[in-house]
Amino acid sequence: MDFTLSEEQLMIQQAAKDFAQNELLPEVIERDDAQKFPAEQVKSMGELGFLGMMVDEKYGGSGLDTLSYVLVMEELSKVDASASVVVSVNNSLVCWGLETFGSENQKQKYLTRLASGEIIGAFCLSEPEAGSDATSQKTTAIDKGDHYVINGTKNWITNGGTAEVYLVIAQTDVEKGHKGINALIVEKGMEGFEIGPKENKLGIRGSDTHSLLFNDVKVPKENRIGEDGFGFKFAMKTLAGGRIGIAAQALGIATGAYELAKKYSKERKAFGTEIANHQAIAFKLADMHTKIQAARHLVYQAACDKDNGNDYTLSGAMAKLYASEVAMETAVEAVQIHGGNGFVKDYHVERMMRDAKITQIYEGTSEIQKIVISRSILKD
Ligand SMILES: Cc1cc2nc3c(=O)[nH]c(=O)nc-3n(C[C@H](O)[C@H](O)[C@H](O)COP(=O)(O)OP(=O)(O)OC[C@H]3O[C@@H](n4cnc5c(N)ncnc54)[C@H](O)[C@@H]3O)c2cc1C
Repeated sequence: MDFTLSEEQLMIQQAAKDFAQNELLPEVIERDDAQKFPAEQVKSMGELGFLGMMVDEKYGGSGLDTLSYVLVMEELSKVDASASVVVSVNNSLVCWGLETFGSENQKQKYLTRLASGEIIGAFCLSEPEAGSDATSQKTTAIDKGDHYVINGTKNWITNGGTAEVYLVIAQTDVEKGHKGINALIVEKGMEGFEIGPKENKLGIRGSDTHSLLFNDVKVPKENRIGEDGFGFKFAMKTLAGGRIGIAAQALGIATGAYELAKKYSKERKAFGTEIANHQAIAFKLADMHTKIQAARHLVYQAACDKDNGNDYTLSGAMAKLYASEVAMETAVEAVQIHGGNGFVKDYHVERMMRDAKITQIYEGTSEIQKIVISRSILKD
């Protein structure tokens, strides 16, 4: 296990770090307060190649490996998790899903624009009554010969209002259960497709989360991804890689909170000395650093597994489970180290604490990761 970064990976990491400091940090507090989507920053990230990082250059992507993507996610998330989730969804769920399973036509028509950042995409699996239990799809896509007709509601969809392309999972044949599910490409503006109000959230408040309503939406058959009935497998395979992106987001939030807490502890004085000199504070920092390093190893390992063609279901689930726990724990302790200042917005750590929570929920809750992990380790 050698995680020595190549020259190219170091350059990409530095570019993401510079971008986060120069373009994301200013006004990150204001965007969070106003729930403002970082539209200009997303456009710039597209220009930097961050929105189609692993996509082949022939489809407008950057042609990089998963480890480079993880490094970028980590750096962006140290500063602004609302911006990094756009990167994660567009790369891991939308672009990867289309490049791996889409037809050549779909790649030419949609992937090229998504990978270059000209437009962004959304991945629509969750429903009011189908979250962890994604097989309970109530949204239907009825086969009408040369097209499908979609009816139903999707919930909590990231990029819901800003995306142009939506990968929608829906049930075609109820009797076939999860083998009767399809994944369809829906375009913004298709008749009967409505975007619900933006959610008012605890964290990642700058990200654009909406419910989506489908009322007799006609989608041509050529917009189906893969064979008839492939939709559930498509969603599960896509989410297995998506988890590596969210694990990297959690790692970034943890690292960002730790770095702020460390800096503060060397400046703030109490009882005649910097608080870092009180062992209770120094030990908190020691715990944070140790756990972050352990999380980083898990996340990089999962990325390397994907890059090396190994199965990454187990390593991705372990990385997401552990990194998200470390993010939550570290952000809470970072607030504690900041004392009263940690509780006000100017010091960033309260936002990080709110942002950290979502990493334990989306793309499979921590409980669901434990189901994935236990099934995997018990199967032999
Ligand atoms: C901000 C945000 C953005 C999101 N973005 C997207 C998106 O872009 N696309 C998308 O499709 N979805 C998205 N989601 C949805 C997200 O993936 C779901 O919220 C998540 O999968 C959990 O589903 P649920 O909310 O229905 O919770 P439930 O499934 O109702 O779970 C409730 C609780 O029960 C637990 N639980 C459920 N089943 C079990 C079990 N078998 N064993 C043990 N515990 C269990 C869960 O872990 C959880 O603690 C987003 C959600 C949020 C909040």
